[in-house]
Amino acid sequence: YAAKKSGHDAVVYDPASDRASDQNLSLLSELRQAVERNEFVLYVQPKIALSSTTVIGMEALIRWVHPERGMIFPDNFIPFAEKTGFIRVMTRWVLEQSAALCGQLLAQGIHLKMSVNLSTRDLLDQDLPNKFGDLLLRHDLTAASFCLEITESAIMDDPVRALQTLERLHAMQVELSIDDFGTGYSSLAYLKRLPVDELKIDKSFVMNMENDTDDAQIVRSTIDLGHNMGLRVVAEGIESVVVMKLLAEMGCDQGQGYFISRPMPAAKLADWISQWTPPALHAVQSAAIVE
Ligand code: C2E
Ligand code: MG
Ligand code: MG
Ligand code: MG
Repeated sequence: YAAKKSGHDAVVYDPASDRASDQNLSLLSELRQAVERNEFVLYVQPKIALSSTTVIGMEALIRWVHPERGMIFPDNFIPFAEKTGFIRVMTRWVLEQSAALCGQLLAQGIHLKMSVNLSTRDLLDQDLPNKFGDLLLRHDLTAASFCLEITESAIMDDPVRALQTLERLHAMQVELSIDDFGTGYSSLAYLKRLPVDELKIDKSFVMNMENDTDDAQIVRSTIDLGHNMGLRVVAEGIESVVVMKLLAEMGCDQGQGYFISRPMPAAKLADWISQWTPPALHAVQSAAIVE
């Protein structure tokens, strides 16, 4: 305890934190190996226009298929990758794979916009816009093929530098989206200044909106807010046809969710699209909850 009070926390011996940092070191080396051994897999989840129910895009979602532990979901390694800076390697991998997929789909005549998640560290990387431009050149794509998703909290970590990066990406004509909208701490005054094209309503508000009046009202207000700011509004977490219909009636532009499709390996997307049969929303009984 005496050593701790002297202000050298980092070098104080503590068996508990020592074990924790051993674990962290091995996780970091496992992540590095995962790249070399091709253990990351690009999954994609389709995104549809709610008025026409046509597939208009997809979101890239990374998966780690570990040789012993099986499928590991991003919430279990992204925060760590973010903390250690390894996220930059991962983001590069995801962008590379996403661009390759876009190219393959275009060659089959399938034009979809690819949404890719960025994190705080990516936004603080002054070289990101250049790297992104280089990626487009190498894959013979235009910036219009992409939408980059950023959370409010990633922006608020360092709003000044984040805004610089976003302005540069925006100047390249790439679309920008605020992910998990409604869960962060950014003010509307700040949001107004961001060069974004899309608001993505967090799934925690969408998932139960057929049963929860408050959620339904939050979603409705967010759609109106987004539209009043000239933005496209997307709902994630659509798990039922009733929610899909409610969102369509509220004028929400686009949607994503397990009811439409779970995320799938990128290689399966073209087949999924050819088999996609949209639900007949007019035949679905509206819930009374939001009347
Ligand atoms: P996100 O960007 O908000 O992505 C949406 C998450 O909700 C995904 O979880 C998706 O599988 C899940 N989801 C989609 N529809 C539904 C639904 O109807 N119901 C429910 N319960 N969940 C649904 P996932 O793939 O586990 O990803 C979690 C988060 O990890 C993502 O949240 C994103 O923040 C992060 N992430 C995923 N891939 C990447 C990546 O390549 N780079 C970065 N920086 N972050 C990533
Ligand atoms: Mg996202
Ligand atoms: Mg989200
Ligand atoms: Mg999220």
